[in-house]
Amino acid sequence: MPLQNLHTHSTFCDGKDTPHDIVKRAAELGMTAIGFSSHSFTEFDLSYCMKDEQKYISECRSLKDEYTGVTDVFCGLELDYYSPIPAYDYDYVIGSVHYINVGGDYIPVDESPKILQAAAERYFGGDMQKLCELYYETAASVFKKTQCDIIGHFDLITKFCEQNPKLIDTESIRYKHAVFSALDELIKSDSVFEVNTGAMARGLRTLPYPSSECLKRIKENGGRIILTSDCHAKEKLLFGFEEAKEALKEFGFKEQMYFDGKAFTFTAL
Ligand SMILES: [Zn+2]
Ligand SMILES: [Zn+2]
Repeated sequence: MPLQNLHTHSTFCDGKDTPHDIVKRAAELGMTAIGFSSHSFTEFDLSYCMKDEQKYISECRSLKDEYTGVTDVFCGLELDYYSPIPAYDYDYVIGSVHYINVGGDYIPVDESPKILQAAAERYFGGDMQKLCELYYETAASVFKKTQCDIIGHFDLITKFCEQNPKLIDTESIRYKHAVFSALDELIKSDSVFEVNTGAMARGLRTLPYPSSECLKRIKENGGRIILTSDCHAKEKLLFGFEEAKEALKEFGFKEQMYFDGKAFTFTAL
């Protein structure tokens, strides 16, 4: 049975474990493949991103050789919307929007509810919906901007919503319009939506990104999905996969995508 996770962070960016320890764990879990996706370089925020791309790539390659016949090892990149175009050839790219850009100021949308609230006050006259509209306008063009194979955590801006229900009115017509416009634009692209359990692993959400409503719409409109854990610690490599699979089946999904090093093909959920 094919089993992989393509969204994995290591000590080359903000992950806890070395690539070697992660691949070892993946092999122990019987995973058929593990893909690394270090954070691309963002010059305006050095706190979490990768600084040594060459070393990262050569480490991935040597692990690929070491684990041949056991677990496939891929070298991917989580490319932030505001990072430069990658200078190296990666096996695949996850395109992610982690910031909104307001007049040259980069505001992280996944740091804390406080930062989001302060940004809504400072830049949008307290109108959180306007901030969300800017986020989804940016997300809508993530494929055009990054040419990504996978769309990372599509509605990341909802990271804190379960625990802070008043932070964003996700039931408003304006919010839904913003979300669905972006979603419909991306469904038309060749990219695959990741179903990301990262915030579940952090105890912030009980459901993966994107929301159930988004997943139903992706299904209805023929979008493709891939399950990932946005792993930052090897114990969480497959976190929430079984729960997420059950939820996806309820929405009518029977298959997800599997990456074999060259292409994405359908595999049973
Ligand atoms: Zn991310
Ligand atoms: Zn990530």
